[in-house]
Amino acid sequence: MERISWNQYFMAQSQLLALRSTCTRLAVGATIVRDKRIIAGGYNGSIAGGVHCIDEGCYVIDHHCVRTIHAEMNAILQCAKFGVPTTDAEIYVTHFPCLQCCKAIIQAGIKKVYYAQDYKNHPYAIELFGQAGVSVEKVEQNEMKVELHSLEKQQFLDRVFNELEKNAANKGGLAELKKEADKLFSAE
Ligand SMILES: [Zn+2]
Ligand SMILES: [Zn+2]
Repeated sequence: MERISWNQYFMAQSQLLALRSTCTRLAVGATIVRDKRIIAGGYNGSIAGGVHCIDEGCYVIDHHCVRTIHAEMNAILQCAKFGVPTTDAEIYVTHFPCLQCCKAIIQAGIKKVYYAQDYKNHPYAIELFGQAGVSVEKVEQNEMKVELHSLEKQQFLDRVFNELEKNAANKGGLAELKKEADKLFSAE
C-alpha cells in the first residue's frame, strides 16, 4: 500500500468535511493544521441550530447565499470559541477562498493556504495573500477524492461483467479487465 502525504491526508479531511455542507450552492471543507496536527475543521453551513439550505433553499442576496457561514470562517471561529491559537497555522481548503475568507485567514495569522480546486480566484485575494506573506499552494488531488457509493459502483461493475461474459468472444481479455477492476474497486 502506498503511503499518502500529509498534504493529501489533510486535504482528504477537508473533502470529508465538505460532505457535511448544508448549502446546496457549493460543498466546501476546511481544516486548520498546526505542527502537523488538526486543530479545527469547518464546512459550508448555517449557524448552529439554524435552518439548512438543503431543507429550506438558499437565502440568496446579490447572487450569494447569506445564510451560509463559509468553511474557512467556521474553522477559524471554532478556534475562537475554544481558545485555540491560529498563529502560524496552515489551512487546507477544498476551494480557493473567497475575498472575505481570505481576509479572515490573514487576520487569524494563518501563514499557508493549501487548496484543491480553483474557484473564482479573486485577484484582490491573491494580492492580499501576497502582501501579508501568506503562501498559497494548489494541492493535486486526482488520486485522493473521497469516493461516494463505492459499493454500488463495484456491484454495478460486477453486473456489467456478468452481461459481457455471456457473449464474450475474447474471454481471456475480459478476465484480465475483471482482475484489474477487482483491484481498483474491491474494498480492501
Ligand atoms: Zn445556501
Ligand atoms: Zn469564503
